[in-house]
Amino acid sequence: SKNKPTRKRILLKLSGEALMGQADYGISADVVERLAAEIKELIESGVQVALVVGGGNIFRGVGLAGRGMDRVTGDQMGMLATVINALGLQDAIEHAGMTARVMSAIRINQVCEDYIRRRAIRHLEKGRVVIFAAGTGNPFFTTDSAASLRAVEINADLMLKATKVDGIYSADPMRDSSAKRYTHLTYDEVIDQRLSVMDTTAIVLCRDNGMPLRVFDINRAGDLARIVAGEDVGTLVDN
Ligand code: UDP
Repeated sequence: SKNKPTRKRILLKLSGEALMGQADYGISADVVERLAAEIKELIESGVQVALVVGGGNIFRGVGLAGRGMDRVTGDQMGMLATVINALGLQDAIEHAGMTARVMSAIRINQVCEDYIRRRAIRHLEKGRVVIFAAGTGNPFFTTDSAASLRAVEINADLMLKATKVDGIYSADPMRDSSAKRYTHLTYDEVIDQRLSVMDTTAIVLCRDNGMPLRVFDINRAGDLARIVAGEDVGTLVDN
């Protein structure tokens, strides 16, 4: 019936680097454990959680393309790197007492499920954490674009992008002390001012489909729950 409570459904984009923590390579057990605990809080409060994970901590397609490697091959390696991260996250999430499913945009059936939209939504409805791996399955895209695409496809209420800073700034806050943080921006402002949030493909997909985005600091414990509870944390981007 139409009086059914509409449970919040979110899509959280985690870069590969976010999984590294203090390490300079691979996956930090401390980080994935902490993430799993924060995700558990959401799941227990009835929020449906989908993740898109990057692969930059392991491999990026453009990396060796500059040295003559075929770009498509590089991107395929990058997409496989995201599958590695997704399996690590799946393990940490299940270790924390939840159920998780990795769904890959590239068929790799011995290790995870294929991405099938209706099945993904079914998993979410059952309270399983769905981890979308292998990006969009296509070279020349990023996992940010994959996150926008999946958020729109599964009809998420909100897309969340975890970064190393607490929102979108007018300049790089690590380099420029006069940089100021925005609390709210429109997608067109992000594009016009060339603010480095996500690539333009990812931004436009959200803009054209009315998907709101919140950019926040993954290292601030509790911010994820605060955002889902409706607090004004980080930077909100919408139309
Ligand atoms: N990639 C791709 N298509 C996609 C998503 C990712 O080819 O739809 C490749 C691309 O080479 C990219 C790598 O996978 O560099 C890792 O993804 P990304 O750089 O987005 O990871 P993040 O920066 O989020 O860790």
